Amino acid sequence: MNQTKIRDTEQMLEWDRRHLWHPYTSAVAPLPTYAVKRAEGVWLELEDGRRLIDGMSSWWCAVHGYNHPRLNAAAERQLGAMSHVMFGGLTHRPAVELGERLLAMVPGADLPEGEVRKPEFVFFADSGSVAIEVAMKMAMQWQHAQGHAERNEFLTICGGYHGDTWNAMSVCDPVGGMHTLWSGRLAVQHFVPRPPAAFGAAWDPAALEPVRRAFEEHHRTLAAFILEPIVQGAGGMWFYHPEYLRGVAQLCREYGVLLVADEIATGFGRTGRMFACEWAEVVPDILCVGKALTGGYLTLAAVIASGRVARGIDGPFMHGPTFMGNPLGCAVACESLKLLTEGATLERVAQIEAILREELLPLRDRLVPGEGRVQDVRVWGAIGVVEVERPVEMASIQRAFVEAGVWVRPFGRLVYVMPPYVISDEELRRLCRAVCAVVEAECR
Ligand SMILES: *Cc1c(COP(=O)(O)O)cnc(C)c1O
Repeated sequence: MNQTKIRDTEQMLEWDRRHLWHPYTSAVAPLPTYAVKRAEGVWLELEDGRRLIDGMSSWWCAVHGYNHPRLNAAAERQLGAMSHVMFGGLTHRPAVELGERLLAMVPGADLPEGEVRKPEFVFFADSGSVAIEVAMKMAMQWQHAQGHAERNEFLTICGGYHGDTWNAMSVCDPVGGMHTLWSGRLAVQHFVPRPPAAFGAAWDPAALEPVRRAFEEHHRTLAAFILEPIVQGAGGMWFYHPEYLRGVAQLCREYGVLLVADEIATGFGRTGRMFACEWAEVVPDILCVGKALTGGYLTLAAVIASGRVARGIDGPFMHGPTFMGNPLGCAVACESLKLLTEGATLERVAQIEAILREELLPLRDRLVPGEGRVQDVRVWGAIGVVEVERPVEMASIQRAFVEAGVWVRPFGRLVYVMPPYVISDEELRRLCRAVCAVVEAECR
């Protein structure tokens, strides 16, 4: 690369450092950023010409990889028609087609007409956090309409993450989560302990005791139980037992409390089923999807409600984002869902899981008792997690990953990967080996 180009890139990064806010970092002393010029398949190409294997799918989104010819074509077709029109009083084919596709694939799609939990209505939101706001408001309004205005609180599990907006923050982990600064200002919700791990351990029904007690104590004021099914993401990359989810769903039914499943991270195949609820054959009353919905192309989320919930809300539902049902997002999402359902997605996720296990689990054996740098390694679906002993030093571990030719962004004590499903076996092994090498070098 010539000198002018290098100067140019440095100037750009410098301007970025001085004026742009990046996620979860300080404006005045930000963590370093790397400039990406283009991306294709699983490869991110930096301005300086380095090429990195993407291990993050841009935070769960880019399941088909970058610059996908079919997703590009879908976006271009839709651009030629219209990129956006308001959804108030107007509708369009991309929204209708996406609604149809979603209702045909989400948990409960095959329930007979008239079943209370059959998913029947789709509310498009513009991001995951907004979808959570909408779902919480929907649950409260439903309870209100049933004559239970006092049922306006939420029960959830510790270690959860549901987004960064106000009510979403109130159901994130209250202690270890990233929103503890605001405890005291947020709506007070109820928390039960993080569920026990799923694998290795046999199912112990005692795990549901705290949940049962919480229901007994609080059900009179509960609108809904909200959780991430099976895989807790940004709250700790934790996998839990399907029986736990089944038990929570059962208790919800017993106590007349709605179940809201946040599948914003887990939806669309990531856990090895199309939706994580399927591991427990649970059909929630309200389901939130986002992230991979558009294959990582545009911001779009959806709240999918059962007929009982939607019809039980008497009067209008007062929510209407400006970009609701954005046609461009919907058109790309339709194409993404086509790719997911026509390809052998779940088979591929299973192969990815096998390789993640093969490559990452040996890190466990390198654990030295007492001075173990690696505390736990866990894999579920196309998600691999290495939990280390002390919080990583972000700037240095990030640099080490880039130098190793991969893009991995840890948080706290968690180094994890969730690659695009289009990653080749070869690329995946390279990614995993870089994770092992960097963890061994950096996490002392
Ligand atoms: C990312 C995430 C959200 C928030 O989605 P945004 O699009 O970032 O607002 C909510 N819930 C879960 C489980 C997530 O992983």
